[in-house]
Amino acid sequence: MGTVFMMLKNLQKAISEQRDFDGALIVSPENRRYLTGFPASDGYLLVSAERAMLIADSRYIEAAQNEAQGCETVLMTQDRTQVRELFAEMGVTSVAVEASRMTLSEYANFAKAIDPIRLLGEASFDKILADLRSVKTDDEIARIRAAQTIAEQAFDHICGFIAPGKTEREVALELEYYMLAHGAQALSFETIVVSGAKGSMPHGVPDDKVIERGDFVTMDYGAVVGGYHSDMTRTVAVESVNSEQKTVYDTVLRAQNAVLEALRPGLPCSAADKIARDIIADAGYGAYFGHGLGHGVGMEIHEFPNLSPRANGALAVGNVVTDEPGIYLPGRFGVRIEDMVRITPHGCENLTQCPKTLIIL
Ligand code: ZN
Ligand code: ZN
Repeated sequence: MGTVFMMLKNLQKAISEQRDFDGALIVSPENRRYLTGFPASDGYLLVSAERAMLIADSRYIEAAQNEAQGCETVLMTQDRTQVRELFAEMGVTSVAVEASRMTLSEYANFAKAIDPIRLLGEASFDKILADLRSVKTDDEIARIRAAQTIAEQAFDHICGFIAPGKTEREVALELEYYMLAHGAQALSFETIVVSGAKGSMPHGVPDDKVIERGDFVTMDYGAVVGGYHSDMTRTVAVESVNSEQKTVYDTVLRAQNAVLEALRPGLPCSAADKIARDIIADAGYGAYFGHGLGHGVGMEIHEFPNLSPRANGALAVGNVVTDEPGIYLPGRFGVRIEDMVRITPHGCENLTQCPKTLIIL
């Protein structure tokens, strides 16, 4: 898989353009996997403009030698000074770390262990990695698509399962069991199933609440395939809907579709959010859409770029982002509709195929 090799090359190019540091220490499993293609819960990746060394412990060293790409592999010793020795061998004098991934105690320990090599905990290095990861390759898209396909099959299945008398927890477990039994390596996050009045809590936890006739049921969930996540939300009605439920559903759907039509490279992330927010506000529900419009998805469920009123930056070709407006009426009901899309040269491709017209089960 040549694309992984490119990811390390891209980081090395970024390092070569820095004045403040000439090396990087990667401690997070996600970024290590992203850069080398090798999944392991432990280990360190040392990167300079020219070289990369993956330190793996005895549990992983053999697999690392076979699978890690674009880097040399080294067996971990018990001593952090190994990191100093290897950086010295690479000719590195200042090392950037992932400030958002390292604990303060790890930082202090490493700073001491690699002295006199400097350790820099600047957020700017996290931004470099986040920007690299926000642009997905075809291989990454294929994994996200595979994960989404499983989630959609689970949706078809669950529509035949939901009925008055079932609890939220039963529905959540059924979704999770279905995905894990049909190829998901893991769940993207703890499945959200909320019904009736609980639907007004965007991230409510499924419990023994019994689903009743007339409830809206909101399900937000996803699968992981090849280290990549999917994310979708659908709200369905159980047996009947009243006119306000219909109005709210239609408003969310209009907002959601308007965003899909507008997404393209160069669109400011805050402008994408505003499209949905304006439609919901014009319909009189502005006070009931409290969260941001969406987020990037990939090796983690929340990645760059963010689509929110406060977001900086603009969309780029290869971004995978969600479009998930919602309206939440406290104590009554809620609606959220979420698709996951890829930004293409002229617009976007919806990676979510599930229907969005209101389903009344
Ligand atoms: Zn979601
Ligand atoms: Zn989401």
